[in-house]
Amino acid sequence: PPVSTAIIGAGIAGLACAQALKDAGLPVCLFDKGRAAGGRMSSRHLQDAEVDLGAQFFSVRDPAFHRQVSAWQEAGHVATWPHSFWQISESGWQRHHDEVERFIGTPRMSAVPRQLAEGLEVVCETRIERLEAQEDQWWLLDERRQRHGPFARVVIAIPTPQAAALLADHAPALAEECEAVIQRPCWAAWARFDTAMPALPGVDDDWQAVRLDPDQERAPAADPLRFVSRNDHKPGRRGQGESLSLLARLEWSETHLTLDAESVARELLEAFRQRLPGGATLPEPSDLGAHLWRYAQPNVFAAGEAVNLDYRRTAMGLALCGDAWRGPRVEDAWLSGHHLGEALSADAP
Ligand code: FAD
Repeated sequence: PPVSTAIIGAGIAGLACAQALKDAGLPVCLFDKGRAAGGRMSSRHLQDAEVDLGAQFFSVRDPAFHRQVSAWQEAGHVATWPHSFWQISESGWQRHHDEVERFIGTPRMSAVPRQLAEGLEVVCETRIERLEAQEDQWWLLDERRQRHGPFARVVIAIPTPQAAALLADHAPALAEECEAVIQRPCWAAWARFDTAMPALPGVDDDWQAVRLDPDQERAPAADPLRFVSRNDHKPGRRGQGESLSLLARLEWSETHLTLDAESVARELLEAFRQRLPGGATLPEPSDLGAHLWRYAQPNVFAAGEAVNLDYRRTAMGLALCGDAWRGPRVEDAWLSGHHLGEALSADAP
């Protein structure tokens, strides 16, 4: 029979790996602890609003990813965004200009991984806690002590601290390599409003996203906020209720890990209020909350830095992929999974 592969983690990396294996005609099954595929490309469904809580947009540099994104764009799963991009610095609100083309999932960021997951076998709400080797075959044990398998190969596509735990008994050197990757935390909040946003003096009414003090050196360490986006001004979401996504700085997140979610959301919204131009005010939110990403962003590679091998493999049929092996972005995660999937397909008997 053809070589079967289990993939633990159905984020964009695990999904890209699965797609490459499937394209090569090989059987593959994904497992994810979440309610659906997507991982950090996640969106939250509020009463009448879709709110992106993980990746806010992504850019494209690599030709293979470019081909993939063009196909998504043609099929209507992604669109370019934002078209009105601002930044706040000491001198106030200014239009943010650069040459980078950015994309977002439509009608929500999670539409991208959901679309990839279609046609793949994905077992959700299943946290894999242990791997067992038995005569050249692998079995996966979940939190309900259920066994899944056997599989000839196992791909681990989850954040490195969680991968280390699965590898400890089987590949201690690789587990150590995982532990050496620091994954920094990030608080992501949402605020939903029943009333429309007020006009901001000097800013167009259709402003879509704003970066705060991108020049980190000048930003005081105590400053909580990094990025704000307007969800109802994203492609495919017109007519939804007014809502903001507010991302915290990583430094601030690290020092506020134990703060409760509602206080985090209030602090981030207050920080934004204080930076509104010309004395503008925000309405009171009708819904407010926050999510802590414990492993939001790997700290090892600077974006764009050359990487020799953006995945790991062992002789025993274990392999690793994900953003930790390449860089802190959606494109890095996709490429890591895609390259591993191609390598595994190439040497399947
Ligand atoms: P993940 O998406 O984390 O996928 C791992 C999956 O594994 C998850 O679905 C999880 O549920 C599952 N899992 C974990 N443990 C287990 C287990 N034991 N058993 C079963 N399943 C398990 N990138 C950009 O390019 N642009 C941005 O603007 C941007 N902004 C970001 C903002 C935030 C707040 C965050 C958190 C990330 C941001 N990123 C951004 C980074 C980007 O989202 C990630 O690099 C990318 O999504 C990582 O994909 P992945 O598949 O490697 O990991």
